[in-house]
Amino acid sequence: MSSAAHVPPSSPHVMNTYGRVPIALSHGQGCLVWDVDGKEYLDALGGIAVNTLGHAHPALVAALRDQVGKLIHTSNYYHVPNQEVLAAKLVALSGMTNVFFCNSGLEANEGALKMARKFGHDKGIDKPKVVVYERAFHGRSIATLSATGNPKIHAGFGPLIDDFIRVPLNNIDALKAATDGRDDVVAVFFEAIQGEGGVHPLDEAYMRDVRALCDERDWLLMIDEVQCGVGRTGKWFAHQWAGITPDVMPLAKGLGSGVPIGAIVAGPKAANILQPGNHGSTFGGNPLAMRAGVETLNIMQADNLMANAAEVGDYLQAQLRAAFADQPGVVSVRGKGLMIGVELNKPCGQLIGLAAHNGLLISVTADTVIRLVPPLILTRAQADQIVAILKPLVNDVLAGNA
Ligand SMILES: *Cc1c(COP(=O)(O)O)cnc(C)c1O
Repeated sequence: MSSAAHVPPSSPHVMNTYGRVPIALSHGQGCLVWDVDGKEYLDALGGIAVNTLGHAHPALVAALRDQVGKLIHTSNYYHVPNQEVLAAKLVALSGMTNVFFCNSGLEANEGALKMARKFGHDKGIDKPKVVVYERAFHGRSIATLSATGNPKIHAGFGPLIDDFIRVPLNNIDALKAATDGRDDVVAVFFEAIQGEGGVHPLDEAYMRDVRALCDERDWLLMIDEVQCGVGRTGKWFAHQWAGITPDVMPLAKGLGSGVPIGAIVAGPKAANILQPGNHGSTFGGNPLAMRAGVETLNIMQADNLMANAAEVGDYLQAQLRAAFADQPGVVSVRGKGLMIGVELNKPCGQLIGLAAHNGLLISVTADTVIRLVPPLILTRAQADQIVAILKPLVNDVLAGNA
């Protein structure tokens, strides 16, 4: 590769909504990707927890090629057989009962919030309230943005809707204090591991306490597994570590291994809230997305990728802890399976570009947290490589040299 030949890519006709690293990717294989100049990168971002199977997985490629040659889209005027196949799989894996298909995380969450409202209206509650969390991220539509706990991304988009009661993480007394005596609460809504907010896991005991409170007060427990779900933490869904089952579970990111897809999985308390005519989605559940979902889950099972996520994830966390044991600027290494956050004691957004320059794709979220959400096929050797590239860069940033 000759760096002199490099022309920084630009997209002047695309709306300027993203701060982008000045590279353009061309193709990938497994956990590796190459840019248009031929430079190789190890992908520890996985398209933000989307590319479950890595890039160009041969079995997924073959299935999608086959599907594109048959049907891409038909509408929901007709049955789509793979909707039932994927729904049955998700029901079996979650212990829940029914699924609605859509196209993205915010769309799944927006549908969940509509379900919460209708659950309330059906009980005669005119202005239903949903409990949400500090630092939560649920998407960028008006309702999901309102549920999101990040003032930076609220700015400029008011008025937000006032359906929400916001509480701190992992504090059951705070949840009770915020809701005691109210008769308008209909649901509690959280990410089992907060993603965009900085990789903050909910305590297992706390999730069990919230489950019990929801049962006691007839609220829906709605768990946003858009980022932490679909095998990433070493269980199918991150809340399963707590041994509980939610009433509503939005999914998206990793479910199609890169093909846009979203789903709302519902248990018996929520599965019949939406009736014919109440909700819909033109692209939702189309044959291409359903094939991607079915094949992604099949390949994950055939290749034992959840076990790999748990094992390589534990290894990567241990290696990160060891690498930064003497580095006081690294405040914490946390997460579960292949959803890992490394929090520094200062903002470190420049690490995204520095890592890319050194052949590693990562993200930084909540200003100070390096987020690693690689494909679930990551190997131990690749985990070692992530640590080897990151360590000197982190030390430089903390020393003020980068
Ligand atoms: C990414 C994300 C969303 C939003 O998903 P989009 O597909 O970008 O709309 C919602 N919730 C969580 C937890 C997420 O990580």
